[in-house]
Formats: sequence, structure tokens, C-alpha cells
Amino acid sequence: MKDPKDRLDSLRAGIERRNPAQPEFHQAVREVLDTLAPVFRARPEYAVPGLVERLTEPERQIVFRVPWQDDHGTVHVNRGFRVEFNSALGPYKGGLRFHPSVDIGVVKFLGFEQIFKNALTGLGIGGGKGGSDFDPRGRSDAEVMRFCQSFMTELHRHIGEHTDVPAGDIGVGGREIGYLFGQYRRITNRWEAGVLTGKGTGWGGSQIRPQATGYGSVLFAAEMLQRQGLGLDGRSAVVSGSGNVALYTIEKLQKLGAYPITCSDSEGYVVDDKGIDLDLLKQIKEVERGRVGAYAERRGASARFVPGGRVWEVAGEVAFPSATQNELGADDARALIASGVKAVSEGANMPTTPEAVRLFQEAGVAFGPGKAANAGGVAVSALEMSQNAARSAWTSQRVEEELAGIMRDIHQVCHETAERYGAPGDYVTGANIAGFERVADAMLAQGVI
Ligand code: GLU
Repeated sequence: MKDPKDRLDSLRAGIERRNPAQPEFHQAVREVLDTLAPVFRARPEYAVPGLVERLTEPERQIVFRVPWQDDHGTVHVNRGFRVEFNSALGPYKGGLRFHPSVDIGVVKFLGFEQIFKNALTGLGIGGGKGGSDFDPRGRSDAEVMRFCQSFMTELHRHIGEHTDVPAGDIGVGGREIGYLFGQYRRITNRWEAGVLTGKGTGWGGSQIRPQATGYGSVLFAAEMLQRQGLGLDGRSAVVSGSGNVALYTIEKLQKLGAYPITCSDSEGYVVDDKGIDLDLLKQIKEVERGRVGAYAERRGASARFVPGGRVWEVAGEVAFPSATQNELGADDARALIASGVKAVSEGANMPTTPEAVRLFQEAGVAFGPGKAANAGGVAVSALEMSQNAARSAWTSQRVEEELAGIMRDIHQVCHETAERYGAPGDYVTGANIAGFERVADAMLAQGVI
């Protein structure tokens, strides 16, 4: 029989040929397939022809027109996407991203990652993702509402609490979920709370959902450090981004006694020697929907804004890439390693380039891949679905306890799986194989579909 490594390489080449001009999707697929050879050797049942081919081909891809009018009456046309990637473990589940960079390749990379991430939560959710190349920045509330209504006017026929359950991602937060939910309810005439997650807590949303991704990413880092006999208390932390993930990463770090000193956006980064003032940052980002440059202006002498700079040039003991894909490259990794970084936890999806991941691993830096480290967000989304199904609402304390338990379990399964396959301490291999095993077992049991 062909060596699994050669077989996986030739499968990958075929996938790249079949899906041209989708570099992020190729990267996400390669990153998974590159770690699967040991499991194929140990468990030949996975080597059946067609399994990897099915896993890398979405069950369904929906692309649609989203026309909408701005406040001056001008018509704009955006493109909407929903990729329903894999439903072996449960209804398709994954966020919607509104950002000019969104195309089918980006949505497929996110959807593909989501399959394994969701499997790692152990909560019975399949993988999907969607979004649009719409840019919400600078748009009024009324424009965002009209866009969301138009987007949902098409999307509603494809989703449902037992079919496909979207949520937020970059550019889609509580405001957008509200407009999307309202339009779904209006069109369908159903109070179907479980069709979207990330809802407001007054109308079916879960406590702690906005915090969950950031909190979970910090908990994952704490678990990785604990394995090395270290803690977070007193450690300096470099965080990128200033969206929902970054804000609640900073919040949890502060609660655990760490010292986050940075945040960033596409225009540059802020470094604050006194540590980030979270109330000020929340005011600017969540209330005013402003930029991080304004933080430095208002904070006083301890903070400065570095326009166009890369946040990874700031020394820190733990790093949390929490902005977007491929934001941390090889040079950034070298700078972080030179500054003595001990752990990196991916709050964003695929923020670290493959070369940078390799550098961290070779340097012995604990590296938590997004599939594991940022799974807290979708995990609490699944808890929101449970609450909706039972028409109940759990306390913050209960949700936080569940989240902490889930992150501990994810860390544990990644760690054990890596050891079992001869790669101790390699959370990338552990996460990919553990996620793969769960999905592959379900797919094999359910036949060729
Ligand atoms: N967009 C988030 C993620 O990347 C959350 C998805 C969800 O809650 O469904 O996992």
C-alpha cells in the first residue's frame, strides 16, 4: 500500500487543482492533511478511498446576490455566501463574516476549520461558515440593518435550528445578529430562537457568549502553561486585534492577574506601559465603534499608537493573535521568540502562518491552534442552542463553569492525542487528529453520503 504521507500529498495536490485561486482554503487543508499521516498508519480504516475527498468537499455551497440601498438611495450589490461543509456530527454551525476580504475561498477555509473545531467541543455541531464582502465600516445603523435584511431574505431558506445555525464573526456582532434574527422571524413567522446564536440575552441569547471566545483562549493558554509548571499571574501579554475576541481576551487576562499591554487594528497598534485600560477601550470600540488610535489619544502618557506597526514587535511572555488570518508571520515569530514568549494561543482563525507555527514549535513555545484555543465561542453557541431548545436561560456562573470545563477537556484531548501519535506537546497535531477522528468515525458509520 502507498505510504499514507504520499497518498495525503497527492490528495492535497488534487484538492488544490480542483479549487483554484483559493489560497486560504489550500492552507487550511494542507495544515490538517500534513498532520494526519500517523493516524492513517495506525488506523487503516481511515485510509478508505473517498473519505478525505468527502471531508474536503463541502456538502453544499450557496452564493447569492445581496442588493441594498444606502442612506442616499444608491443601490449597492454585494455577494453573500454560506458554505455548509459537514453535518456528520450535527447541524452546520459557524459564524458569518462581513468584511471586504470575504470570498468563497475564505469562507471555505473558515468552514473547513470549523468542522474540526466544532468536533473538539464534543457538543454535536457540524461545520459551516458564511458571510459577505460587505464592509460595515463607516455605514450607519440603518444601512447595516437594510444590508442584514437583504442578506437574510435569501439566507433564510437555507438555515434552521436543525439545519444550519449561523452566528457572528468579524464584522457581525450583537447588532447584526439582531437585524438578521428580526428578518428571519418576519419572513418565516416562527419564533425559532435556535436558528442563530449570539442573540441578545433578553431575547434568547446566552450569558457569556460575547466573552466566550476570548475567555476560552486565555483558559487554553493557562492550561498549556500549567503543563510546563507555569502560570499566567504577573505575565505580560501581547494581544492583537480590538474586536470582541481581543477585548474579552484582555478582560480574562486581567482577571487572572496577567498584564495585557497591547491591542491593534488595521491602522496600527497601541502599546500601553501601564496595561490596557479596558473600560476606555470598550467605550471606544463597543460604544463609539471607533479605532484604537483614539485610545492612545485619550489614555495619556502611558500609551502610544504606532501607525502601520506590527504588534509582535512588542515583547511579551504570552501572545494572543486575535485579529485575522495570517497576521503573524515568520519574522514576527522570530521577534516573539527572541523576546522570550512562552505560549501562543490563537484567538483568531489561522492567524499564524505555517512557517511561524513551525518556528514556535521548534523553539519549544507552547502553541495553541485556533481550532482548539478559540473553540470556546462556538462551544457557548452550542450551549445557547441547548438553552433555546429547552426554552431556558442559564446563569452566567453556570455558563462560565461549562466553558471552563469544555476548554479543559479540549486541552486534555489535544494533549493526549498528540502523545498517543508520538508528537508530545504538539497541539496542532493533537487538535487535528482528535477532531478528525470524531468526524471521520461519524462519516464512516453513516455511509457514503
Ligand atoms: N465565528 C466563531 C468561530 O470562528 C463562532 C461561530 C459560532 O458561534 O457559531 O468559531
